[in-house]
Amino acid sequence: MRPEILNPLFCDITSLKGVGDKTAHWLNLLCGRRVLDLLWHLPSSVRMRPIYETQPPLGQCATFQFTPKKYLVPPTRRIPFRVQGETPFGTLVLVFFHSHMKEIEIRFPLDKTLWISGTLQNKNGTFIVIHPDYVREKQQDIPTHEVIYPLMKGAQNTVLIKLIQGVFSNFPTLPEWQNEKFLAVNNWPDFKSALFKLHRPENDSDLSPLTPPRMRLAFDELLANQLALMIVRQKNRVQAGIACPPKNTLKLSLPFALTTAQEKVLSEISTDLASPIRMSRLLQGDVGSGKTIVALLAALQVIENNYQVAFMAPTDILARQHFQKISKLLEPLNIRVGLLTAREKGKRREALLKSLALGEISLIIGTHALIEEGVQFKNLGLAIIDEQHRFGVNQRLKLAQKQPKVNTLVMSATPIPRSLAMTLYGDMEVSVLNEKPAGRTPIQTKVLSTKKIPAVIQKLQNWPNQAYWVCPLVDESEKSDLMAVKERFKELQQVFGNAVGLVHGKMKGDEKEAVMADFVSGKTRILVSTTVIEVGVDVPNASLMIIEHAERFGLATLHQLRGRVGRGTLNSVCLLLYDKLSANAKQRLELLRDTEDGFKIAEADLQMRGAGEILGWRQSGLQDFKIAHLPEHTDLLKYATQEAKEILKSDPTLSTSRGQALRTLLYLFEKDSAIHTLKAG
Ligand code: ADP
Ligand code: MG
Repeated sequence: MRPEILNPLFCDITSLKGVGDKTAHWLNLLCGRRVLDLLWHLPSSVRMRPIYETQPPLGQCATFQFTPKKYLVPPTRRIPFRVQGETPFGTLVLVFFHSHMKEIEIRFPLDKTLWISGTLQNKNGTFIVIHPDYVREKQQDIPTHEVIYPLMKGAQNTVLIKLIQGVFSNFPTLPEWQNEKFLAVNNWPDFKSALFKLHRPENDSDLSPLTPPRMRLAFDELLANQLALMIVRQKNRVQAGIACPPKNTLKLSLPFALTTAQEKVLSEISTDLASPIRMSRLLQGDVGSGKTIVALLAALQVIENNYQVAFMAPTDILARQHFQKISKLLEPLNIRVGLLTAREKGKRREALLKSLALGEISLIIGTHALIEEGVQFKNLGLAIIDEQHRFGVNQRLKLAQKQPKVNTLVMSATPIPRSLAMTLYGDMEVSVLNEKPAGRTPIQTKVLSTKKIPAVIQKLQNWPNQAYWVCPLVDESEKSDLMAVKERFKELQQVFGNAVGLVHGKMKGDEKEAVMADFVSGKTRILVSTTVIEVGVDVPNASLMIIEHAERFGLATLHQLRGRVGRGTLNSVCLLLYDKLSANAKQRLELLRDTEDGFKIAEADLQMRGAGEILGWRQSGLQDFKIAHLPEHTDLLKYATQEAKEILKSDPTLSTSRGQALRTLLYLFEKDSAIHTLKAG
């Protein structure tokens, strides 16, 4: 059970004073449902409001004295009301839209010197401020800086500031879970003070990942993460599982021979499955290394033993593609395969869930829909999670917890730098597919300016096979990005007519599916898309990958995208088109041009990435940390791993008083599934 002391942090945001339905609505969307979610919503910047006695720079927030001298009353309300006055640096006009004379007279009595704060502009030689942010009699009543939170439409910064301030005035006193000496040596504050400080930055340097409060919380988070992983792993090692020895009754006839790497990995998995200890294994293999078939053969070994298998993919497109391919392969074996995504609804869904619960379906393929409450199995023996970096640890565990003893196989095409693999996936054994099927020709990668687009279109005209054209949609809500994709599509349509398809994240499921189906069948030759195709999609006849604004993608993403071609025996080309190229971006694109080795790319990504360039990893979901930030906190991660090991060595059930405090920490960072694991043992 969650320590009671945490209740004020875990209660609903609506329990806070002043949060009505409307505020709750945007708060829920912006940060989440609980007070704790609000606390994890950290400021993104600080707006300074310096005081000026001379002329402030234009376009910046500034505070200065102002003495109203004259009202410039407009003839109609459509024209703004203006107040002319004097400042230490000359005449200035304040501009107000939709204001009433009365109101203005009260706020700006003539000849009374006031303090105002706003953004100074120069319009046709006159200084103006449109709607000043503050008008006060005393300078002290105007803040010298303001904390800015990440916002969305409808959200109010001032409301966030007030609410968070309120939470701190009522903050529970939490036990200290860190070693006091360690805190003292590093000069790190306690949890509450650290979090408070993070919400009160006074300048940009307070936002650095290296301040003591930020380091303290990052260490907390990393320790929670490492503890959770190790607890799960410790349990897995001795936990009873479902034993599924190979029987070889179900034989799949494949159009190719397995690679040596596939054979080796498969035998590791097969041994795990046969043993009565629960399997928990990560299969890492670069894009195109052939993980799916390995997973399928593992699944057959479980099905032979009359257990069910669940195969979870991160996107609808991918789940459907797996379903189609796998059903076809399994047809001769008479095995019933089901598909469950958010799109299976109504009667169809009910029937499916029923067959699943009765055990009539042996293999169910799907998306997150598989981990929903209503989904029940008769006897789940193996949970396979594809592209696992797209799921959080909790989601991964949820599928495994559908039934006790379930074996799990998680697969990832995001090679994890060796220096991090152990720390990030400490709860699993690892298999590596380090060889691609024979006959693959290397992908030729070229780095080009977007100015070359006409030539690229020419190339596309003469290209004998299918091609992808990817435009960035970094933020799904970014309208301009969506426009850019659509425009590119229109432009290509003018040249290629119906041979072009368009798929993006804002499209409905069926629309997306239809477009993908046309591309898979070869009906369309060119597919314009956003990164929705990034994960796993397999069209062997596609051999040209064009990535526009490649400088805006992270290395990991680019590597994934490139992996969509070069999947057959065709000569493949990847064109990385850039618009503006920083030195760092240039280095990244060149690295990609020079190697296809995913592990090398991952290692370099970690080394190279400056603080701002985390896009690739963030997108890859590899680190969904709230506070910790790699690579700046890589050392902290190493300490946290050591510390977690020592803690569990001396107190494996977290029952000492420090252990109890650490449980509180685990709750604060959503690692409660690890605590359940502790309890189950
Ligand atoms: P990934 O590891 O990226 O998930 P897939 O499992 O999608 O890769 O496999 C990529 C392609 O390689 C598929 O078309 C698959 O059928 C094919 N493939 C897998 N194993 C082999 C093999 N041993 N020989 C030839 N082709 C293979
Ligand atoms: Mg795959």
